[in-house]
Amino acid sequence: MKKLINDVRNVVPEMMEGLVLGNPEAEVLDGEAVAVRRTRTTDVAVVSGGGAGHEPAHVGFVGAGMLTAAVSGEVFTSPSVDAVLAAIHAVGGPAGVLLVVKNYTGDRLNFGLAAELARAEGIPVEMVVVADDVSLPADGPGGRRGIAGTVLVHKIAGAAAAAGASLAQVAREAERAASAVGTMSVALGGCTVPAVGRPGLELGASEIELGLGIHGEAGVERGPVRPADELVADLLDRVVEALDLARGDRVVLLVNGLGGTPVMELAIVARRAVSYLADQGLRLERMWSGSLLTALDMPGCSLSLMKVDDQRLRLLDAATLAPAWPAPYRGTVVDSVPEPAPGLRRPAAAPAGAGAPPPTTALPPHLSRAILAVCEALEAAEPRLTELDRRVGDGDLGSNLARGARAVLDECAGYGSTPAAALRAMAGTVRRSVGGSSGPLYAALLLRAAAVLDAAKSDDAPSTWAAALSEGAAAIAQLGGAAVGDRTMLDALVPAGHACARAVADGASGKEALAQAVAAALQGAAASADLLPRRGRSSYLGERAVGCPDPGAVAVTVWLSALADAVDQTPEAA
Ligand code: ADP
Ligand code: MG
Repeated sequence: MKKLINDVRNVVPEMMEGLVLGNPEAEVLDGEAVAVRRTRTTDVAVVSGGGAGHEPAHVGFVGAGMLTAAVSGEVFTSPSVDAVLAAIHAVGGPAGVLLVVKNYTGDRLNFGLAAELARAEGIPVEMVVVADDVSLPADGPGGRRGIAGTVLVHKIAGAAAAAGASLAQVAREAERAASAVGTMSVALGGCTVPAVGRPGLELGASEIELGLGIHGEAGVERGPVRPADELVADLLDRVVEALDLARGDRVVLLVNGLGGTPVMELAIVARRAVSYLADQGLRLERMWSGSLLTALDMPGCSLSLMKVDDQRLRLLDAATLAPAWPAPYRGTVVDSVPEPAPGLRRPAAAPAGAGAPPPTTALPPHLSRAILAVCEALEAAEPRLTELDRRVGDGDLGSNLARGARAVLDECAGYGSTPAAALRAMAGTVRRSVGGSSGPLYAALLLRAAAVLDAAKSDDAPSTWAAALSEGAAAIAQLGGAAVGDRTMLDALVPAGHACARAVADGASGKEALAQAVAAALQGAAASADLLPRRGRSSYLGERAVGCPDPGAVAVTVWLSALADAVDQTPEAA
């Protein structure tokens, strides 16, 4: 287990101390895992909490307008009765205390007994239980679990209290909000409790789990990973059904990360969730996205919907000083989300790989066949190039080149009818679609090759194409500043160019010359494994890259071999 901790026994108190450092409104009670508002409130106090591991919940929500105190147990363990009672003592005044509790037996018992004891001392206390996990039946043995939707209830209760409502009113708002919220979650992996040291939930490399809780416990359904858009619709279908939502209903949405989910993925989820709600005719009034109630380092997210009216919306909008409460997206009812830019995707239905018909283009057939062969080879080589670049680079070469190949296939119909025009147009496609280091370098190669074809007397003489290859390699060297021996694609490309030119000078056909070029590229790529990297990302690895061939050099062998094979089948081009 690798974690940024000191001693597993001190994880919770050290976390509490660290979290309140960023919150001028809060302090930790002496010797207790309880964070309370520094300034005592005369309003109803709202107290919540539960096991640790859900940060920033609940300590991050302590602040005027939200929680007055947060009580934390050990990781995924309910806080003790005495810790809850300490929080009630610390913040409870004559206006009374509302306890907001997530529906777990331990939390209900510890908060429930603390409430009894406080009432016996004369402190007015009410308790509201949140049970928003719609993956479980509401009438099952333990009912539904309390998960991320609870944060919305915290906000509503805190705002009602700050507005001066009585304990009965605050409790009623919280109760009604709790019954208007539903949440459904998906996990892509497990989470590691510090004291345990390994993930509780084990998922296969391409497995996901739907409807799990927030303690690394199993969910209700396991299945294969799917595109985010599909998953989002599936999760929301279940929430919409459980809440019995109908067209025209007003809702707010919480996109909650479970602790190990990049902001990038939450944004992709939010994007689809918003369009889904528009499709259903639901009026999205507000959306919050962030990791608010987590399960340690679990990758995955949950989606919560809550029905709202003007009153509830006002409470959600009311200002709070709680540091973890995020700013909302206020875009009321987004009608549609823009489609990805056209032309950079092949329609999903089109068959990829061998057997796909050559794209229709104004190009001579042997050229369009060659383009098709190169593109298909690069698409097929994606996993291999990804793996190589993962070992000695950053892992994107396979997808960069495959994306470029798909873009070329999509756009080549409009490439014009001469080889030079086609290469120049292809440079434009590559420049726009490939990225990384390969994108600009290949675009430079294509532009230079096009210039060579333009200047030549015959644009299908083998000597012209041999010159185009060598000059293209020279353009890469100029732009990137690398030379043969630096362990880049040039270590395959330059020898290939030389071999091709030599063969042509010796009177070989185009087909024979290309075969010589492929042999030289393969040799150069293999030999790159022994070179010390001096350019590109591999240079950061130094000695550690040795033993693995340069991914870019291997990529050269992929497209050059495909080109040679395509010419092989079309002797008229030779
Ligand atoms: P990035 O390193 O930016 O992620 P890619 O993954 O697209 O770029 O491409 C990596 C390959 O690019 C390397 O394996 C190497 O062959 C090639 N490369 C990197 N820098 C240069 C350079 N300056 N000149 C020529 N080729 C280079
Ligand atoms: Mg890379």
